[in-house]
Amino acid sequence: MEKVLVVGAGGVGAVAVVKMAMHPEIFKEITLASRTVSKCDDIAANVKTRTGVTIKTAALDAMDVAATVALIKETGAELVVNLALPYQDLALMDACLEAGVHYLDTANYEPEDEAKFEYHWQWAYQERFEKAGLTAVLGSGFDPGVTSIFATWIRKHKLDGIRLIDVLDCNGGDNGKPFATNFNPEINIREVTATARHWENGDWVETPPMSHKVAFDFPAVGEKNMYLMYHEELESMKTHFPEIERARFWMTFGDAYINHVTVLQNIGMTRIDPVTHNGQEIIPLQFLKAVLPDPSDLGALTKGKTCIGDIITGPAGDSEKTYYIYNICDHEECYAEVGSQAVAYTTGVPAMIGAAMMMKGIWLEPGVWNTEQLDPDAFMDMLNTDGLPWQVVELDGHPEF
Ligand code: NDP
Repeated sequence: MEKVLVVGAGGVGAVAVVKMAMHPEIFKEITLASRTVSKCDDIAANVKTRTGVTIKTAALDAMDVAATVALIKETGAELVVNLALPYQDLALMDACLEAGVHYLDTANYEPEDEAKFEYHWQWAYQERFEKAGLTAVLGSGFDPGVTSIFATWIRKHKLDGIRLIDVLDCNGGDNGKPFATNFNPEINIREVTATARHWENGDWVETPPMSHKVAFDFPAVGEKNMYLMYHEELESMKTHFPEIERARFWMTFGDAYINHVTVLQNIGMTRIDPVTHNGQEIIPLQFLKAVLPDPSDLGALTKGKTCIGDIITGPAGDSEKTYYIYNICDHEECYAEVGSQAVAYTTGVPAMIGAAMMMKGIWLEPGVWNTEQLDPDAFMDMLNTDGLPWQVVELDGHPEF
């Protein structure tokens, strides 16, 4: 494979194409398409300045399957990397099947009118991709994505299975704004206002949104409050690691962020059902997104580090061991390298690496796969060489929180 079509000229797409352009031996021809072609052109100019590589751009509404198929054929792309929004996943998978090309994304399909964070719509494509001899890789960002690959690597090289897993996502960065989300505000706020859920002893346990808070001392960042949340990799990990006894996901938020979200929720601004305003139907959360800062404009303003990883406990021979595997990423270093902050960087780089795994034929078994189902080794090597080095330390037992 030589040619790739990236869809979505947002914060994540901007990083992924710069990083792809840094590997001309893998990505020989890159096309970036989005609804707004001027955003693609701005990103293409950034790619040219930083790497000297010229990428092609195109206007595309990814909900229009016929238009996507036509663009795939016109560009000769053999892989579509979906960095648009979760609403476009199924339309893009349909287009890939019709055009006979492979597919990769970073977020599970979401219906527009309901926050679900479930994989069953995309898993239902398994047979069609398998029969067509095509591969779809789901969730190749950081979380989901690297957090699952970390778990697979620990399970392959350090433990005989996974009994307990806590995914810890810490953003210790500060963008100086009173309230701004680090990636698409609509998706981010849908996540944090959803009921928290974790997997324990064969069942989902539900708790009210943002109701379970714990302080944790993160490497390179320090102590931060993290909140129990639902996140989509819990569903795929408990499915693909059936031995898991408990799987939880935690994300850090500052008090100001929590206060803003609480107020916005209380006054109805986070609703995703339509309301009528001046005779026109609007979705409050989509309107809110329009007035909040654009995450891709935060790069120059954000300082500090992210620390995302897994604490995993499981059997190892006759005993039980616990490992903490994580990456630390610096917002200002990311901005200096690619012109984006670390949240976009930590998603765009794994999207590029996942795409590289497919272009090189390492992840090309026909079917629909979550990242924890794929061999982690070559991906883990590229994390180290391509900007997201990881560390693994043995802990003295699984922390109690
Ligand atoms: P942005 O909102 O910054 O960018 C999304 C882009 O998608 C926009 O440029 C937008 O187009 C484009 N788009 C939206 N609808 C369409 C459409 N119908 N057709 C074509 N293009 C469309 O989002 P992010 O870059 O922050 O996030 C991108 C994806 O990454 C999301 O799915 C998000 O959930 C996921 N993500 C995953 C993470 C992980 O770790 N796994 C972490 C963070 C994000 P335009 O502006 O041209 O109108």
